[in-house]
Amino acid sequence: MDVKGKTAAAIAPAIIAAFGAIVGKDHVFFDEVDQASYQDKFAIDDARHHPAGAVAPATVEEIQAIVRIAADRGIALWPISRGKNLGYGGSAPLLAGSVVLDLSRMKKIDYDEANGTVLLEPGVGFYDLYDFLKSRGMKHWLSVPGNSWGSVVGNALDRGMGYTPYGEHATRICGVEAVMADGLVVRTGMGALNGAPTWQLYRFGFGPGWDQMFVQSNFGIVTKMGLWLMPAPESLMGMDLEFDRPEDLGPLIDAIAPLRREGLLQQSPTIGNWLRAAAVVTTRDQWTDKPGALPDDVIAAIRKKFNVGWWGVSLRLYGRESVNKAAYAILEHELGKLKPMSLRPTVWKTGEPLEATGWTGTPLTMPMQNANWHGGRGGHIGFSPILPQSGAAAQAQFQRTYARYKEYGMDYQASFAFGERHLINVNAVLINKDDADLMGRVDPFLKHLISDAKRQGYGEYRTHLDYMDAVAGTYDFNKNALGQLNRKVKDALDPRGVIAPGKSGIWPSSQSGGQG
Ligand code: ADP
Repeated sequence: MDVKGKTAAAIAPAIIAAFGAIVGKDHVFFDEVDQASYQDKFAIDDARHHPAGAVAPATVEEIQAIVRIAADRGIALWPISRGKNLGYGGSAPLLAGSVVLDLSRMKKIDYDEANGTVLLEPGVGFYDLYDFLKSRGMKHWLSVPGNSWGSVVGNALDRGMGYTPYGEHATRICGVEAVMADGLVVRTGMGALNGAPTWQLYRFGFGPGWDQMFVQSNFGIVTKMGLWLMPAPESLMGMDLEFDRPEDLGPLIDAIAPLRREGLLQQSPTIGNWLRAAAVVTTRDQWTDKPGALPDDVIAAIRKKFNVGWWGVSLRLYGRESVNKAAYAILEHELGKLKPMSLRPTVWKTGEPLEATGWTGTPLTMPMQNANWHGGRGGHIGFSPILPQSGAAAQAQFQRTYARYKEYGMDYQASFAFGERHLINVNAVLINKDDADLMGRVDPFLKHLISDAKRQGYGEYRTHLDYMDAVAGTYDFNKNALGQLNRKVKDALDPRGVIAPGKSGIWPSSQSGGQG
């Protein structure tokens, strides 16, 4: 059956009452104000992802009961953990008329201090986990994303990233519990064995390892997730570097990449451009009243005020002090060869006061302030293709993308974030929903960026709801064989599209969306 295009009115009062009987009437949210509060605040078109409402269960049993009703009545559920996936859709469903399954009430934390692992429910936010670990003496550090007000589980499920050696969150998952579309509760890995003390210690169990099947998918509703935490380091050392010219990007990437690959750098640095500070602590009208991309004289003024280069990067070393000191000398030597504009060392040792930054795993919301750059109903939408770790490739990608930003009159905010073997070129498109002219350019601009990247063989690692089909469509080997596989899995597990239809371009055959 086809649940596409269901509107808010389509959820009958009897169904809302049935949800209320499961979770309590205070935990169903279906009036207009509720619907608005679950909308994507940064959506180009509010109507496209307007939810029918939301229901907030507190237990696995309640989720099972809700899933049964949804399956019975052909209702699409959109699970969120805390729903702060800003830039990618926030708490809104892909399909208008879906019921948001809000798991933010489920906040249990199980901590295995000896092994440095946690088993988390979806509602646990980065601040919750930080406060919890602090109350236990901070023996382990978090890895937090730039905007840390979301859920630890939700962020890992969308492949969010942080700044410490544990910054690739999806790869730190160890063991998942999920409710499937038929109501079955599954535990992956060692959790499949009753009484196993190793659920959070060994990722694979016996047979296929399924943890990653729940990441960026719609194959189940995750109710518990195991995660590894970084043991608190004895020392933290590093440097903040600034580089003067746009063309310094390539050599910088070629200098960092081998250090990252050999493991001397265990953290994944992010190279960001001049707008990163300005967009957070100032607004555009403080710099210019002219439309179009910021001209070179304004860029120069911004750089002067914040004393930053065209590009900046922070490198950090974690662990034993003696090891860090030896590694630091190598970093200093290698990066010094590039003749940076400035090199500011940072040193911290256990017992000293710790600066609240992403590199110390402290939750922050400050970077989100860039949503206010244009004023009005501001926001940002991400465009983030994956590149090889090559200076020449990154330099060319930068030039192409920057030219498009200028062509469409957009202010350039971008970063190149290292992984172990890849780069993610995260571009923020800063918007203002009260500026019709600007908003009219956003969609063609993003589509252009996607097709430009595809021409180079680059695909996005994550995208906004509006572009999930388009991005899935760029993964086109052998007539979208991967998309076909995803659809077959979806058909087998959830033929009626109860769980998040359309997420990552995955639709069951019974629904008309997606790419073939
Ligand atoms: P955060 O609050 O950390 O930003 P969200 O709750 O917005 O995270 O989750 C990001 C995305 O991950 C959601 O849009 C949804 O597609 C998916 N997701 C989140 N939580 C779950 C879950 N418990 N089970 C399945 N998918 C989920």
